[in-house]
Amino acid sequence: MVEIIRATSAGFCFGVERILRMAEELLESKKNHIYCLGELIHNPQEVRRIKAMGMKFIQSTSELPKLPDGESGIVLIRAHGVSPHVKQEVKARGYEISDGTCPLVTIPQNFARKIVEDGYRLVIMGHEEHPEIQGILGFVRDLQGQVDVIAGPDEIETLNLKASDRVGFISQTTHPHETYAKLIGDVLEQVLEVRAYNTICQATFDRQDAIRELAQAVDLVVVIGGRQSSNTNRLVEIAAEYTRCYHVEDSSELKSDWFESVNRVGISAGASTPECAIQQVSEKIRTLVGDQ
Ligand code: SF4
Repeated sequence: MVEIIRATSAGFCFGVERILRMAEELLESKKNHIYCLGELIHNPQEVRRIKAMGMKFIQSTSELPKLPDGESGIVLIRAHGVSPHVKQEVKARGYEISDGTCPLVTIPQNFARKIVEDGYRLVIMGHEEHPEIQGILGFVRDLQGQVDVIAGPDEIETLNLKASDRVGFISQTTHPHETYAKLIGDVLEQVLEVRAYNTICQATFDRQDAIRELAQAVDLVVVIGGRQSSNTNRLVEIAAEYTRCYHVEDSSELKSDWFESVNRVGISAGASTPECAIQQVSEKIRTLVGDQ
């Protein structure tokens, strides 16, 4: 009998629950012209479900159609947030905004601006192409000051730091706290002053701590979540430091040979993975190992 152990913290975070509720309420209101700017969350099943309910997805404000005379439209801003100029473009096209930016994402947005206004070089730890980082960059783009985005301590050389530099840090909400702490410590050895804000969200802390503990107690870990989901990918990286780890988007990707000679299987899931997907993976593992 294979034991399946679920991480003590896994699956939907409050920011994802909030944006899904907002999307559902907008669609249930039966208003016309409801659009979502970008992928709502990084989970393909949930995006398909919301699309099936009637949400229209656009990648850029230029795709918003002209509203018929006398009619209104709404654009839902996803949990990752957007830059202020994108909101201005939405309003300029005559649409209202329903702002689903996670309240925890507004923290690095505001600190980024404060760091640059206070005269520090802004260093953001994150992935530049990620929508959360693109949104944050929009909060400082009208300010004078040096801004860099790096993924972690391995990229410090690209900053060309000077001994006289005063550096201000923020992190993408879903990056590992150990990596952030190392980056800050390494930079502090090379510059005059460092100011650092803890902008990693509690849900990320909890899920990363839980998978670290779980991965040390099982023979393999299965992490469920979208391949574009940063926080899911971090969970995979952490688990792989300790044991064999597989990343699946849903139960159809599970392979029976993964579970040969295995006694204990750990399961975790990214912050945008619905409970039903976690249950389906658990049940499919039981079927594959012949426990049902
Ligand atoms: S992972 Fe954290 S920052 Fe991102 S949506 Fe969830 S609660 Fe908000």
